Formats: sequence, C-alpha cells, structure tokens
Amino acid sequence: MQTSEIRTRWLDYFAKQEHHLAPSVPLVSPDKSILFTIAGMVPFIPYIVGTEPAPWPRVASVQKCIRTNDIDEVGKTTRHGTFFQMCGNFSFGDYFKQGASKMAWDLLTGSVKEGKYGLDGDKLWVTIWEQDAEAEDVWLNQIGLDPMHLQKLPREEIFWDTGQPGPAGPCAEIHFDRGSAYGPEGGPEVDTGGDRYLELWNLVFDQYLRGEGLGKDYPLLGELDKKCIDTGLGLERLAFLLQGKDNMYEIDQVFPVIEKAQELSGKHYTQGKTSKDPDDIRMRVVADHVRSALMLIGDGVRPGNDGRGYVLRRLIRRVVRAMRLLGVSKPVFPDLLPVSKQVMAASYPELDKDWQTISTVAYEEEDAFRRTLESGTLIFDQAVTRLKQRHESQLSGKDAFALHDTYGFPIDLTIEMAEEHGIQVDREKFAQLMQEQKNRAREDARAKKTGHVDARIYHELEAELGHEVEFVGYTEDSCNAKVI
Ligand code: ATP
Ligand code: MG
Ligand code: MG
Ligand code: MG
Repeated sequence: MQTSEIRTRWLDYFAKQEHHLAPSVPLVSPDKSILFTIAGMVPFIPYIVGTEPAPWPRVASVQKCIRTNDIDEVGKTTRHGTFFQMCGNFSFGDYFKQGASKMAWDLLTGSVKEGKYGLDGDKLWVTIWEQDAEAEDVWLNQIGLDPMHLQKLPREEIFWDTGQPGPAGPCAEIHFDRGSAYGPEGGPEVDTGGDRYLELWNLVFDQYLRGEGLGKDYPLLGELDKKCIDTGLGLERLAFLLQGKDNMYEIDQVFPVIEKAQELSGKHYTQGKTSKDPDDIRMRVVADHVRSALMLIGDGVRPGNDGRGYVLRRLIRRVVRAMRLLGVSKPVFPDLLPVSKQVMAASYPELDKDWQTISTVAYEEEDAFRRTLESGTLIFDQAVTRLKQRHESQLSGKDAFALHDTYGFPIDLTIEMAEEHGIQVDREKFAQLMQEQKNRAREDARAKKTGHVDARIYHELEAELGHEVEFVGYTEDSCNAKVI
C-alpha cells in the first residue's frame, strides 16, 4: 500500500466517523514557543488547553512534522526521521477513551477491502498507565486484546502534560510485534531499543487538571469538564510495515533517494534487515535529510546561522558530507532533490508549483558549503595528522576556533568530523575563545578588520607557535593559512 494511500485511508476513515478534516499546517510552528511543528496536536493546542473554543468537536489530520531531537537516531534506528508525517485524530470534549481506543483498533486491524489497514491484531501490544482502570477495561473487555499483550507502566513513562499546571493525562501506546528476529520476547516494556515492538500510535487521554510540580511529580487536582483526545500515528512506520520493509527509509516516499545515492556513489545499499554498515547508514541519512530540506524550504525556511535556518543549513551540510564519505564530491542536490520532490508531490502538489524557488535555494546553499569545505578540510586534516603523529586524541579549542573563525567551519561540523577519526574536541576552550572574541569585539570597536577575516588570530597563533604564520587568504584561491 503506497504511503499516499495510507494517508488517504486515514482521512477517509475519520471523515466517515464525522471528523472535520484539517489540512496540515506548515512546518514552521504556529505555536511561537517552538521552532517547528513537532506533532499533529500543535495547531490544536489552544483547544486542548482551553484558551480558545474548538471550532469542531472532532478533527483529523495528517500533519507534517520536524523533530530535530531525533537527528542522531536517523539511519541508525528503523523508525526515526527528522521529517515525518503524523496522522492524528482529535476530540475536544466529544468522544473519549473508549471511542478513541475502539476506532484505533478498528482502523488498524479492519479489512483492507473496507478501506482499513489489515494488521494482524495478534501482533499488537498496548501499554497503559498502571492506574488507568478505565483503559484496562476498554482494551481487555470491550476490544478483546489478549491480556498478555497489555502492559502497565508508571506515570513517568506514559503520562502527558504541557510542563505546567493545566490539562494532563495518561496515554495508551499501540505497538506492533515484529517477531523474534528483532529481539527477545517480553513486550514494549522491556524492549528498550524499540526494534521488536515498534511504537506505532500514541493515544493521549486528556483527563485531569494537574497542579504545580517538577517533572511528573505533581498532584492531579481532579477530572477536566471537557476531556480531550489527541492521538498520533507515524505514517512512515505504518507504511514500512504495510510495504513489507524493514525501516522507514525504504518506503516508497523515501527509498528512491537511496537508489539515486547508490547510483551516484556506485555503492550497494543492503536491503533486508536494517544494517549497521556505515555506508548504509549514510544513505539513509541522505534520503531522510534531502526530504526534510525539501519540505522545510517548501514551507518557507531559508538557510541561516540560527534557529530554523540553521537546522536547514545543517541538514543540507550533512547530506553533502555523507555523500562525500560515500565517494561523491560533485554537487549532489541537483540529482537527489528532484527525486524526493517527485515522490512527495503526490501528497504535496505545492512542491511542483514552488519547485523553481525550492531547488534554487537548495542548490545555492550546497554551492556555498562546498566552497567552505574546500578551504577548511585541508586545515582540519592537517590538524588531525599532527594529533595522530603525537598520539593525541583531542583537537585543541584553538584549532577548532581557527576553523570556525577563518574558514566558516561550524563547530558541530568540526566535532562530527573529529568523531569520525575518534577524536574529541576541546569544546570548553572553544567556547572560551568564542567568548573572548565577543568581548574583544565589544571593547575594541575600532579593531580594523579586513574582509570577513579577523587577521588577529594569526598573530595569536604566531605567539603560540613561536614562529611566523603567513596569511595567504587573499592571495591564494584555497584561502589557507600556511605555517612557515
Ligand atoms: P519513539 O519512542 O519511537 O521515539 P515517540 O514516543 O517519541 O516515539 P510520540 O511523541 O508518541 O513518539 O509521537 C506519536 C507517533 O509519531 C509515534 O508513536 C510514532 O509512530 C511517530 N513518530 C514519533 N517520532 C517519529 C520520528 N522521528 N520519525 C517517524 N515517526 C515518528
Ligand atoms: Mg521519540
Ligand atoms: Mg515512545
Ligand atoms: Mg510515544
């Protein structure tokens, strides 16, 4: 079943259950307290916390999401994308625990012929809050879930709140057991990696009014008058199960980019069980990040040095670097981005309309980064060679600072590249030098700067090294400082 069809089935199913269908809001979060839309509920926060009346009692959507906190998992786990789509259904004071749980079960396990997803109910497991007797009753007695497949968790693990006094409540999470090839038996409770019992769908039951307290340590002050339902199912996770794939990077909306990366690099991607091979991980990262960049630019984000722009910049840079590590040093976005656009446009036709702008932004950013890389990589490699000769494993804060200050190498790039050599970066010293630089700039407003480079760093380096450093930044193409 194609991902776009899974999406349509979701919307059709909830439309039949009298839900208003809300279009996805942009990835730039409508809620000003967060940079990106991280879940389907984000546009509905005012209705859930009760600051605005809900215009409809029931809503369903398929929401575009960005989660930057999952970036280090991408390509390594089977299930984390920086971009993904969260299918959601919501009730604002309308149906509650029973209605939401029954619909979830029906849609997941109902027959494909009737427009549902046809999962085997015997493979589903559900986790609930240990004190939620109502949920236990619904799952065991009304839905008929195998009691062995119901696990009860403490509040710290399965309770939603906004971090402050207001609505809060327990969740029920539905997991799919992928079988013994993926880990030992025992249910989601014991599956820390999440490989065997794949978390598919989180149902949040907004039931209580909570008081003051840190973490999950707060009193429940009573039941809300208007209880709400907020659910989220990962579209890509369901897609990889329904498409018989092993991870979300191999679904129809993502895999064509991996295929293109294979073609460009001449490297073979290992399908089947998600491998830990570094090249395979790189291809998954490339496919994920190209798609995220496409969707972010499509939603108006532009590369920059902070906030959203920096996230986008970092995603683009990571693609370029991963492709280099796969042996491709020519520009890659002109090959990869159209492939991602092609597969995503079925669900997001505006990508076709805005293609000219999207592609120009991406290609220009890649070109700029390629120039940065060319000048900085040489210096970085020299520093690493020196370290290795001395059998040291820490890059000095000074070197990291010079890379940043002179070659525009962002510190996270230096850290990432250093990690690939098993080398740490002295971040503390780096931060100190950054601070000193800021102070100097403030104190010495008249400091004469030439172009974009503050040549004083070279004088400091001279003092440190005890010999002369020739600055050749404006006379040589490569913009390198040579130690003579
Ligand atoms: P996990 O524990 O696997 O990281 P989560 O508990 O952080 O997931 P929720 O916040 O409960 O996820 O989000 C609801 C659903 O959205 C999840 O059950 C999952 O199906 C999907 N989802 C969450 N994060 C991602 C992601 N990074 N990529 C793809 N799908 C995701
Ligand atoms: Mg998570
Ligand atoms: Mg989870
Ligand atoms: Mg969850």
